[in-house]
Amino acid sequence: MDQLSKHTLQSSVADRRSACPGLFRMARALDGSICRVKLTFGNLGASQARSVADAAQRFGNGVIEVTNRANLQIRGVRPDTENALIAQLLAAGLGPLTDRGDDVRNVMISPLAGRDKGKVDTRPLASRLLTTLQSNATYLSLSPKFSVFIDGGEAVAMVDHPHDIWLSPVDPDNPSSSYAFGVAGIPPTKAGDPPALGVVAGERAFELITALLDTFIDWNPAHPASSRMRHMIADAGSEILSGPIAAHADSQIHGKDLAGWRRALPRRGGGHLGVLGECKDPTRPVGAMPPLGRLTPDLLRSLASLADKYSNGLLRMTPWQSVLLPEVAPDDAASALSHLVSVGLSADARGPLATMIGCSGSAGCGSALAATQADGLKLAALLDGQAGIPHIHMSGCSKSCASPSARPVTLVATSAGHYDIFLRATNGPSRFGKLLAANVTIEEAAELIGQNSGSGGPLHA
Ligand code: SF4
Repeated sequence: MDQLSKHTLQSSVADRRSACPGLFRMARALDGSICRVKLTFGNLGASQARSVADAAQRFGNGVIEVTNRANLQIRGVRPDTENALIAQLLAAGLGPLTDRGDDVRNVMISPLAGRDKGKVDTRPLASRLLTTLQSNATYLSLSPKFSVFIDGGEAVAMVDHPHDIWLSPVDPDNPSSSYAFGVAGIPPTKAGDPPALGVVAGERAFELITALLDTFIDWNPAHPASSRMRHMIADAGSEILSGPIAAHADSQIHGKDLAGWRRALPRRGGGHLGVLGECKDPTRPVGAMPPLGRLTPDLLRSLASLADKYSNGLLRMTPWQSVLLPEVAPDDAASALSHLVSVGLSADARGPLATMIGCSGSAGCGSALAATQADGLKLAALLDGQAGIPHIHMSGCSKSCASPSARPVTLVATSAGHYDIFLRATNGPSRFGKLLAANVTIEEAAELIGQNSGSGGPLHA
């Protein structure tokens, strides 16, 4: 066992400072411990996938979840097997760069970063930042939830999830564009969204990000209960960032005020399903969704085999909780897609299971009021074949662990088999949107969603 493994195996027992799971700090749940396996930009090699599958089978309960930050988590880990699980994952090359670096591996980019024709290639900046976060002791105190999103303006991008720091190119079709940036939110895509704080040249972006992080790190000790940028902005206002912004950035875009800048909307529904066509290299990503973002060990092994057969041994997880074969030859794309469907994934965005997400529900969480996983599958079966079914989120309580942003439809459990239904399109007053119906059964929910979907219905997006 190497030095890293020794250290981390020791620290795994002692470090319980957060309920947010990691590789060395597993969070307790009803069905055992949860081990989160952080993947660099969602990437997972086929042999690593087999290791995760074996580990989930040997040391967990066989449930592997794709998370909304494009990571994996192994559920149902027994306390006496935690260290063996960690050792297996480290041996598979799934550990952090430094022994305390696991928690801060939270840099997000598009699953198509560097491959979307004519867009900014965010990978060098994101890689440099990810390395710095793990290797600079200053940043190891950041919360495991603290995240940075570096957007390249790609057509396939998750721009709905809020991050502590975000950057997005002001001219996405110019590969050397400057970045608009902001904190505690998302790039603005529509009127009323909070505007960017400033603009930074690509070559100064790294210095800006670290200056923003340094400001947070300096502020944090006097506010030990606070862990996110939004807490600092609520306490001190965005003026606290005026120093780093003045040192590294501008307050205008090409002489025009920032207030009107909007990030172009990504492709409808995320565009992460099926054969994706806009890559500048000769290969094509092919994407599909496992049922409710969950994999079994056998399913992950099947995906590893498809990665070997079609995608140079590579898999990529996405923030939609789906899976990509990122490097498929164009002539093989249809066959790869058909194989993904044949092993149990959904690739047609019109089908309810292609976009439905849900938390673990009462099978794994003590706060859950219903069995969201089983109820989600039941709801999907009832809706199957109907036109225009929107993206649905099944939540076991109002905490909304599976989605950091509102979905077009959210079902929030009220008791076993019963849910409140919220519609995002109607904007509030709840964080999920407006209440469509209270305390309905799954059958009633299917009928209501079906009535309101299809072209012309209020849920037609
Ligand atoms: S949303 Fe609620 S029920 Fe679901 S996992 Fe989170 S805390 Fe548990």
